[in-house]
Amino acid sequence: MAIEMYKPENGDSKDMRPFRCVVCGYVYGPKVGDPENNVPPGTPFSDLPDDWLCPLCGAGKSLFTAVEE
Ligand SMILES: [Zn+2]
Repeated sequence: MAIEMYKPENGDSKDMRPFRCVVCGYVYGPKVGDPENNVPPGTPFSDLPDDWLCPLCGAGKSLFTAVEE
């Protein structure tokens, strides 16, 4: 049977770290979201749709890396 890996951080399942586009340097902030692309504030990067693209350069989610605070 398959069990999905699930790693809550500090008891909070939401990963609210910002993510930076490695191509252009744009930073996606979960607290801000991406309202121009129908992403409401409070949306963690992991909850973005798979077809979400960097609003600046069009890079896919796989080209984003977490920003450690
Ligand atoms: Zn970009």
